Amino acid sequence: MARLVMKFGGTSVANIERIRNVARHVKREVDAGHEVAVVVSAMSGKTNELVAWATEASALHDAREYDAVVASGEQVTSGLLAIALQALGIQARSWQGWQIPIKTSDAHASARILGIDGGELIKRFKERKEVAVIAGFQGIHEETGRITTLGRGGSDTSAVAIAAAIHADRCDIYTDVDGVYTTDPRVVPKARRLDKVAFEEMLELASQGAKVLQVRSVELGMVHNVRVFVRSSFDKPEDIDPNASQPPGTLICGEEEIVEAQVVTGIAFSKDEAQISVRQIEDKPGVAAAIFVPLADANINVDMIVQNVSEDGKTTDLTFTVPASDYVRAKETISRSKDTIGYKSMDSATDVAKVSVIGIGMRSHAGVAAQAFKALSERNINIRAITTSEIKFSLLIDAAYTELAVRTLHTLYGLDQA
Ligand code: ASP
Ligand code: MG
Repeated sequence: MARLVMKFGGTSVANIERIRNVARHVKREVDAGHEVAVVVSAMSGKTNELVAWATEASALHDAREYDAVVASGEQVTSGLLAIALQALGIQARSWQGWQIPIKTSDAHASARILGIDGGELIKRFKERKEVAVIAGFQGIHEETGRITTLGRGGSDTSAVAIAAAIHADRCDIYTDVDGVYTTDPRVVPKARRLDKVAFEEMLELASQGAKVLQVRSVELGMVHNVRVFVRSSFDKPEDIDPNASQPPGTLICGEEEIVEAQVVTGIAFSKDEAQISVRQIEDKPGVAAAIFVPLADANINVDMIVQNVSEDGKTTDLTFTVPASDYVRAKETISRSKDTIGYKSMDSATDVAKVSVIGIGMRSHAGVAAQAFKALSERNINIRAITTSEIKFSLLIDAAYTELAVRTLHTLYGLDQA
């Protein structure tokens, strides 16, 4: 017997027929003797519709009321799934965030989970063999008693947090892809599904735009050591052996569970980048602060930062990247601080892309990045900036070469499917 969290995303509960399909997935695990808590998203498209309604009612609206509106999508699917399970003869009960309760901060629309008491859910597993069907994405702020939501994609985070609270053996994320791939299969058809990914690697893959899971859920999984298993909800429920050691999918887990780490696990890329170079800044203490503090104050997320060591001890250049959506604001912010920073000129580019190579195996292997530099030079791809960390290096290149670069590196590091 195991204790499982099963999370189903919007496409998996998009209509009543799909909800019935979900119920059969749940029944399979219950019949195998497992204790199950299910976490559901709203029907696909529902949350967008609710957000649009709130905005239509008033473009500037109270975030507490926004949450009251958008949390309703998950209320509907949790009740419907409980009904569908009961129709299959399974004991099931729906739970809204406030009923458990899932306690959160009061940052409405992007609240953080503070604590969950799993006691009642566990008691009901034991006493009634009851399946808990939990509305994802929502919680309650205890002091005000108001409903909160966790930010878009937040039901992944609900699921991992519930799994931690009830000490689940695994948190299964059923979604419309069958796992995490070495890179985007639309760009590299030879991309492979990974059997296992370490939390740290997944954080890099997710924040780099591999949009399988909300990043926050991976962080939470890492902190509480919750094994997260990404798998497809489109497999026929009856075709799956609930006792198989690993059904098709990707397990996100601690490094210690990954026996033979590849040097490189995956390649992420993003074209939504912009590069800003500030030229001939005075080389003295405080310049970096003069540039980056105003950007931080403007809530602009700076990613790669490259500063040159000045040749003459007087001036130097500094290059950094920001999300393309913040590009104009970032340039304005720098121009406004021109006097405090003290620089000669600023230039920038938006037709750039960031390609990141990720793998925990890099910790123990030298020369991994050097191989990439050579392979890209053979393709005549120019590298504008480089940053490295223990398990990742990122290259800024011209956007036009993104696909070529990703494919080249995918082959170089032996990630292509046979
Ligand atoms: N329904 C919410 C959203 O669309 C939460 C989720 O699906 O994870 O963002
Ligand atoms: Mg999602």
